[in-house]
Amino acid sequence: MIDMNYIVATHNKGKKAELERILSAVGIEVITADETGFVYDEPEETGTTFAENAYIKAKAACDVCGMPAIADDSGLCVDYLDGAPGVFTARWAGPECNSGTNIKKLLSELDGVPHEKRGARFVCSMCCVYPDGRTITTECSCEGFIADRKMGDGGFGYDPVFLMPDGRCFALISPEEKDAVSHRGKAIKELANKLADNQ
Ligand code: IMP
Repeated sequence: MIDMNYIVATHNKGKKAELERILSAVGIEVITADETGFVYDEPEETGTTFAENAYIKAKAACDVCGMPAIADDSGLCVDYLDGAPGVFTARWAGPECNSGTNIKKLLSELDGVPHEKRGARFVCSMCCVYPDGRTITTECSCEGFIADRKMGDGGFGYDPVFLMPDGRCFALISPEEKDAVSHRGKAIKELANKLADNQ
């Protein structure tokens, strides 16, 4: 078991809870920079890959807090759109966008496209940067399809239009079931194992 505190570079309580559920199993306690009292400007996500952006966020938190810091970057890659929205997933429908407007844009870009051409995957890169410069990264994905309409309102982000290969929608499954198959669940588990090996 690891007995060390890690900073999680996110203000998103849902992401922190997801990390906590999985990392506590290997003895890792996570706290946000806000909880430690450190205040810093979010770095600009200037990377062209999920891995670069995860590193930028983890490095910034580690530099400010002087503790090992974990960050993730994730998004949706749609085959028919040549991998878009990719690293632009969060802000795809513009600066004022939200999940509703992002989903609306996605459904409209795929209007009339048949199911077999609507393949997509969520991708998640996780990065941990230690004060001594060591860096540990993982990247996992989760294959599926984009639905032709919203289904359910559970989950967050693009969940209401993401279908698993068996046709069930991410917005309609339990958080535990999603953790077991999701890009983020898999990437966090891989990170937990690598962190445990690196002590
Ligand atoms: P990030 O916070 O910069 O990693 O942005 C991730 C973006 O991808 C957000 O806009 C989310 O809506 C979307 N996203 C990532 N993972 C998921 C997921 O598991 N379900 C739904 N949307 C997701």
